[in-house]
This record gives sequence, structure tokens and C-alpha cells, in this order.
Amino acid sequence: MIPIPLLIALLLAFGVEAPADPPGDVPRALAKVVAAVAAVAASAFALGLWTAWKVRRRGYAGSRVRRTFGIGSRLIALGSLVAYGWIVHGWGWPGIVLDAWGWRGSILVDDALIVAPFLAMQLLAWWGAFYGERAVLGLPAAHAGRRVLRHLYLKERQSLALILPIVAIFVARNDVIDRLWPAWRSEPWAEAAELAVLGSLVLAASPLFIRLAWPTRPLADGPLRRRLEEIARRSGFRCTDILVWDTDRMVVNACVTGVLPGFRYVLLSDALIDGLTPAEIAAVFGHEVGHVAHRHLPYFLFFLVGFIVLLTAASDAFAGLESWLAGLTIVDPESPTAWRDAVEGLAVAACVGALFWAVFGALSRRFERQADVYGCKAVSCGSPDCPPHFDLDDEAGRPIRTVCPVGVRIFADALAAVARRNGIPADARSWRHGSIASRIGFLADLAESPAREPAFQRQVRRFRLGLAAGLIAALGVAGAASWIGAIG
Ligand SMILES: [Zn+2]
Ligand SMILES: [Zn+2]
Repeated sequence: MIPIPLLIALLLAFGVEAPADPPGDVPRALAKVVAAVAAVAASAFALGLWTAWKVRRRGYAGSRVRRTFGIGSRLIALGSLVAYGWIVHGWGWPGIVLDAWGWRGSILVDDALIVAPFLAMQLLAWWGAFYGERAVLGLPAAHAGRRVLRHLYLKERQSLALILPIVAIFVARNDVIDRLWPAWRSEPWAEAAELAVLGSLVLAASPLFIRLAWPTRPLADGPLRRRLEEIARRSGFRCTDILVWDTDRMVVNACVTGVLPGFRYVLLSDALIDGLTPAEIAAVFGHEVGHVAHRHLPYFLFFLVGFIVLLTAASDAFAGLESWLAGLTIVDPESPTAWRDAVEGLAVAACVGALFWAVFGALSRRFERQADVYGCKAVSCGSPDCPPHFDLDDEAGRPIRTVCPVGVRIFADALAAVARRNGIPADARSWRHGSIASRIGFLADLAESPAREPAFQRQVRRFRLGLAAGLIAALGVAGAASWIGAIG
């Protein structure tokens, strides 16, 4: 959901020190930038048109074509990031914008121009991939989403609106806090406090950004809405509104946003509502309610802030250790330290990245399963050996407690339908969600013996507490190490 490529591009442009001088030969550097953008665009169009041609020739999108298209799209996204990194750091693009063109000191124009090559590459890549996406989804010829311009407008709107919180954080940190409270930066725990406050603010305000990002409308009153409201009542779940998310039937998805009960939306995409049965939609809605009922969002925030603070503290401790070691040994003054530092930095970054990838992935997959189980409960009758299965409408007001076999099957069908309609193969791995096949397999076991559910909940709770305890202990050790470093 979060536009990660754009985030990485912003980090490349503004987070890592770029050469400030303009290149010696500006026209030549400009020609290289244009060539890089054109190369990304050409490969995206080649992939999109090739996929469309393959699908048209066979009459349907086979699994190999889908997979090639998926891998190709990811490679192009990666390629545009590498190209952008080169544009900024290799060919001196910021120097061209700031000095050769004289935009230094302007408000936002300079930043926008520095990001412009990446935005151009992304837009062209979406345009090219669009033809393949449309073919893979098997959309009919008269479909409104065929219009390229509208598709690009929706994608751009989504990406930019979701990046707004990040921009707001930058402005708040660099302009407001520094100006009002210059001494703040030197406080030892300033960074951690800032991160926690800003992160909570963004989580609380996220419904606003979601509504800016996507065209939505309230779900009309009717049997479906009443059914979902009944589930919300039975869960003690409160939200501002249930919204239909208009995607021109391109996306089958649902999400929940916001941590405050008074400012929170559940979004169901138009294609989800059209393509699933009311019971399946209720199950998907129950999954989203489950994320809130199990307090997944605040935990993610705690985990992210804890991890970043740990990194900062650990790098301080590491630097202290290194200078202490350097004092003990005699360092050869002609050693190529710049290279060594760069290699060391890369190695540390790769290790930290891998650790984050592994832990965050494991946590996220467990939370998805927990939300899946909640979705099953939302459409369960409460009898562990049904059928006969009673629809929940008959027992209004009963709190959500146990899973029943038919309820589990309804949820598993909904999951399979979502994957099929999105053109995702059931065995496709997903870092954050786990593959559809593994999620359905887990639910099939649960349908067979609903009594396993408490053991699963205990296991997730233990993982969650263990991770929190580990993080807090590591923070304590890092804090003690930096304290010893400071007095030693
Ligand atoms: Zn989920
Ligand atoms: Zn049942």
C-alpha cells in the first residue's frame, strides 16, 4: 500500500549526501539522464505490450505469462531506482538543478525538480505496464479503466497522497522544530521521542491521507451494510464510515485505516463488492475488524520505532567501540579507509536490512493469520460441529467468540476469490501476507479441528510478547553501552 519505491527515491535524493557541484559538461549529463528515463520507459512498454500480445494470442492469461509479467514489473521498478540513484549521485543531477539552472534556495521547486526524473520514470513505467495489467486481469473491451490517462491519474494521486505524511514529517522536523526549539536536537532521546510522536500522529491522521489518495463513497444503506454493521456491533468495533473504494474494477481489496475509533474507515473496493457473495464480503470485513480488535497497528508502530531507535543507539555504541579500538592499535595512515568504510557500511546495512526483513515479515504473516481467524469467526455460527450452519443474522448481538467449520470455509473461499480476481497465483509467495495457498491450508486444518484455535492464539501472543521483550532488552543494552561509552 505504501509507495515504497517513491520512499526509497526520496531517501536517495535527500537522505544520502549527493555531490553538490554541477557536472563539468551539463548537456552531456542531461543527455544521459534523458537516455536513462527512455530506457526504463522502453522496457516497461516492451513488457506491457508483450504480455498483452501473449494473452491475446492464447485467449487467456496463463500462469507463466502472469509470473513473467510480475517479475518483469518488479525488475523495472528496481531498475528505475538504480537509474535514479545514478542520476543523482553519478551524473550530478542536484548540481544541475541547484547551480547550473539556479534553483538553489527556492521553496519546494528545487526539491520537485530533483525528484522529477524519478516521477517521470515511474509514470512512463506505469503507462507501459498498464497494457499488460489490463490483459492479465482479463478486463472487457468496454471497461472504463481502459483509459490510460485516468489510470495514470489514479496511480499518481495514490502515490503522492500517501507520501504526504512523509513530506509533512520532513517539514515538521527540519523547519518547525528547529526554528521554535533549537536546543531540542541535542537532547539525547530527542530522536526517539520525535519518531514516536510523529509516527502516532501519522497513524491517527492516516484516514485523511487515504481519502485524499483514493476516490471513495459511503457504502449505500441496504442488506450488505446492515450485515457489516452487525459484525461491527458484535465486535465492539467503531468506525466513522464504511466506504466503497472506486478503482474502475481494477483492484479486489479491502483495508482499514486509523487508530482512533472516532476517525477510522473500512474501505472495500468496488470489484470486491461486485465479485464476492455477501457472506464472503462479511468475512473480508471481519478480517479488517480483526486487525483492529487485535491492536495490530499500534504494535507495528511500537516495533518500527523500537527498531529505528535501536539502530541509532547501536550505531552510536558501534562508533564508540570503533574509536576505542582505533586508539589501541596503530592504524596505517595510507590504508584506503574510505573504501573500507563504504564496504563496512554496506555490509552493516545489508545485515540490518535482512534482520528487519525476516522479523517484520514473520510478525506481519502471523498478524495476517490472526486477522484471517477473526474473519472466520465473524461469519461463524459458534457451533464447532456444524453443519447445520446458522446465519449470524439469526443471532444478532452475540459476541464474536469461536470458529465453526462452515465459517472457516466461507472465509477460505473469499480468500481464494480475491486472489483469483487479482490475478495472483495461489502459491505466489508474499513477504507480508504469506501465500494464499498456505493461508488456506492453515484454515483447512482449523476447519477440521476448531479446538486448535486457542493454541494458535497463544503462539501469536508469545511471539508478540517475546519480540517486545527482546526489543526492550536490546534497547537497554544499547543504552547502557552508549552510557559507558560516554563516561569512558
Ligand atoms: Zn490483513
Ligand atoms: Zn457454522
